[in-house]
Amino acid sequence: MTEGLDTSASIEEASARAEKLRDELRYHAHRYYSLDAPEISDAAYDALIRELEAIEARWPELITPDSPTQRIGAVPSGQFAPVRHAQRMYSLDNAMDLGELDAWLERVEREVAGRNCAFVCELKIDGSSLALTYEDRMLVRAATRGDGTTGEDVTANVRTVKSVPLKLLVGGVARAQETLFGDESPWRVEVRGEVYMPKVSFERLNAEQEAAGLPLFANPRNAAAGAVRQKDPAITASRDLSTFMYQVVEPRALGLESQSAALQWLRDAGFRVNPDIKACALGADVHAFCEWALQARDTLPYEIDGVVVKVDSFALQDELGFTSKAPRWAIAFKFPPEEKTTVLREIRVQVGRTGALTPVAEFDPVSVAGSTIARATLHNEDEIRRKDLRIGDTIIVRKAGDVIPEVVGPVTRLRDGSETEWSMPMTCPSCESEVWREEGEVVPRCTNAGCPAQRLERLGHWAGRGALDIDGMGSEIITRLVEQGLLHDVADYYLLTRDTLASLDLGRTKKDGTPVLLGETMAAKLMASIEASKTRPLAKLVFGLGIRHVGATVAEALTAAYSSLDALMAATVEDLAAVEGVGPVIAGSVHAFAENAENVDIVHRLQTAGVRTAEERTAPEQPQTLAGTTWVLTGALEHYTRDEAGMALKALGAKVAGSVSKKTSYVVAGAEAGSKLERALELGVPVLDEAALQAVIDSGNLPA
Ligand SMILES: [Zn+2]
Repeated sequence: MTEGLDTSASIEEASARAEKLRDELRYHAHRYYSLDAPEISDAAYDALIRELEAIEARWPELITPDSPTQRIGAVPSGQFAPVRHAQRMYSLDNAMDLGELDAWLERVEREVAGRNCAFVCELKIDGSSLALTYEDRMLVRAATRGDGTTGEDVTANVRTVKSVPLKLLVGGVARAQETLFGDESPWRVEVRGEVYMPKVSFERLNAEQEAAGLPLFANPRNAAAGAVRQKDPAITASRDLSTFMYQVVEPRALGLESQSAALQWLRDAGFRVNPDIKACALGADVHAFCEWALQARDTLPYEIDGVVVKVDSFALQDELGFTSKAPRWAIAFKFPPEEKTTVLREIRVQVGRTGALTPVAEFDPVSVAGSTIARATLHNEDEIRRKDLRIGDTIIVRKAGDVIPEVVGPVTRLRDGSETEWSMPMTCPSCESEVWREEGEVVPRCTNAGCPAQRLERLGHWAGRGALDIDGMGSEIITRLVEQGLLHDVADYYLLTRDTLASLDLGRTKKDGTPVLLGETMAAKLMASIEASKTRPLAKLVFGLGIRHVGATVAEALTAAYSSLDALMAATVEDLAAVEGVGPVIAGSVHAFAENAENVDIVHRLQTAGVRTAEERTAPEQPQTLAGTTWVLTGALEHYTRDEAGMALKALGAKVAGSVSKKTSYVVAGAEAGSKLERALELGVPVLDEAALQAVIDSGNLPA
């Protein structure tokens, strides 16, 4: 039974009615979602939708893909297919302050030399870029930006975003089809813009996540990007996303000659276009708009992180052209880091993986640049003295590079005398052992090998992205595993079973009071991640062991010299110190690690569990005829740079060193060789000229 048709209606009548309803609904949806100017009540709109649904239920053959009832379609199968963008999605050059913006404006005005150069200023929405393709007015594809060249097909999800027209408007606006679409047929157009999550929706989503015991989103941008990539479009639909479109990809085909004309076209076709776009005749107006936007950012219902300025005329854009990375006719004016004030409540000491004690500021939660922050590292005690921070201070906080929370300093004039100074505790907050501050170091350490806090950090380090990359093994799960006695050291990861993980109590309760368990799905995912971590490159494994002073770069250097963990652990301090990029301090640290019985046991258990601790190295291409010799290059060579000559020698197995010693086998002296040549002569080290070097490289034989 339908409301607008009687029961005896024919399919022809129903079809005509459905088409009318769709046009009407499209018109009102556009007024509501894109123009923010509804003409009818929500209830009236719902009544029209219900009538259309009833017709479509009775005559399913009348359902069209662009029907407003069809936003949520079938769940797409598996992965998002890659989409190659017909035209690269450029990123823009940045102006980091108003001075850089002015310099850019002057440069552009100089280039266009006296001709009328108008600009268009658009707010830079902090969302996720989107490309929409329409064929014959129908939405056929939505793609993410990806790397700018290839994105992902997210059509099924983007269809659920109500401000994205499934069919472009014609009748809804007072324009004829010809003027709107040009005369190309069949007609295809791609438009681009930003999909974003409004601030209120973001806060609501995080409140829901928290109530359900799920991880929170860091900021609205991540939340929007995540929503667009959901496996189930119904979830995307529930996330309350919106869009602002700002680009027509081939505007000339539609007879558009400027960015402002393209924006008007987008509005007319039914897209949501940001209302705060400003056309500026002069650079000074652009400057003023950017200053306005800086003030307005907090009052807008969505996050912005700058202003995009474009030269309005497409003809002038063509003239200005592109650099290898970005258009010359546009720039992104980036806002300076947003600063907020809050109250410093506590300075807590965190114990790192190597026992380093780091003070962390804990302050009243405050929203900065799109996310809520409540703590920031203070690095060390000297830093706290330098900034003169006291507990109870009103402090200024911001995000460095808009990512890492940072305490700028106290507002000292707001002190009332109740603030207290802080000093580093003498004992470890985790194990209460006495802490030790080595001379010349700014950071005190807990030297207790069994310190629980250090253990957690070591376990987290092993699973981290730079190391063995056990995807999904976050600090919360690690903490629970340690608490329940399932994880003591990194070798224990490989004894975990799917059942143990699935029933892991996360220490939280659902609304109904039952405990939150990790569950089968996550357990299966973690087991796969653990399995995958067994075959990471040796350098990642060595880094993952968390040997003091062995960062990612040193681990690379060590594993370039040693192709197995066994060989590395058997090396003497002297051998280790001879590795390029490894000094005596690192060598001592690696050796001490290898001497420790507990570490030997861990390595043995890793090997038993099937973790790969050796790498097959492909045989060197050239015979290593210079193996065992050490060379020093000095002075300018005619045919090589010193690096090139060094590479050629290394390819033959030689070691190339930076300074001359008794161990040096040969010194190659080019023009204007200085002290190294003198030292070689002093020590009686053979000295070769460039011709002799050339002969060695050509023949692969040692000098006669
Ligand atoms: Zn400790």
